[in-house]
Amino acid sequence: MTLTVDNTDSSHTQTGEFPCVSCHTNCCKEYVIFVNAHDVYRLSVGLGVPPENFLEIYGAKDYSLGIEVKEGLIDLALKQKKGACEFLEETGDVFRCTVNDFKPDVCKSYPFQMKNGKLIQMNDIMCPVDWDVSEFEKMMVAHLKKDESEWKFYDALVKEWNAKHWRKKPLSAFLKFMLDKVELSLKS
Ligand code: SF4
Ligand code: SF4
Repeated sequence: MTLTVDNTDSSHTQTGEFPCVSCHTNCCKEYVIFVNAHDVYRLSVGLGVPPENFLEIYGAKDYSLGIEVKEGLIDLALKQKKGACEFLEETGDVFRCTVNDFKPDVCKSYPFQMKNGKLIQMNDIMCPVDWDVSEFEKMMVAHLKKDESEWKFYDALVKEWNAKHWRKKPLSAFLKFMLDKVELSLKS
């Protein structure tokens, strides 16, 4: 989940070198990227492809939040290829995200999070870098607020879908319901 910073600028870390390149994007290989409605909408519109092309379904871990469809109680995540996100491309020894402009919120914010109203770096052994949090504060705080509200929007629409007992309908019907909701919200 490489960060949305300009990696031609080498001043983003305490060591003075932009580190995602030399780390070989471990985070894009090790995590399953679960997505919300806005993530799916941006990717689908940005790439001009239906969500089924890039989504994988997983059995829901959280029974109160899983999507009830004909296929089961599920969560949505990005497809993987050769043990990494399918949008990760390797050229020689360089890895890059091929959907940088539309990548999911979680990819944009990793490895930062808010704790007690402050931006901090996650206590996560996956990312080997000691980031200079203060450099990202303005951009990330705004991003994480937006991210939180998009997840709330998603949780509400999943609850609405489940409450309507549409569990016999297929995933494709849920995806249409979800994308229509996002489109409506963007118009209002
Ligand atoms: S969408 Fe891009 S940044 Fe996110 S996991 Fe995939 S390759 Fe990495
Ligand atoms: S694990 Fe850390 S250093 Fe490596 S690509 Fe992800 S954010 Fe960058």
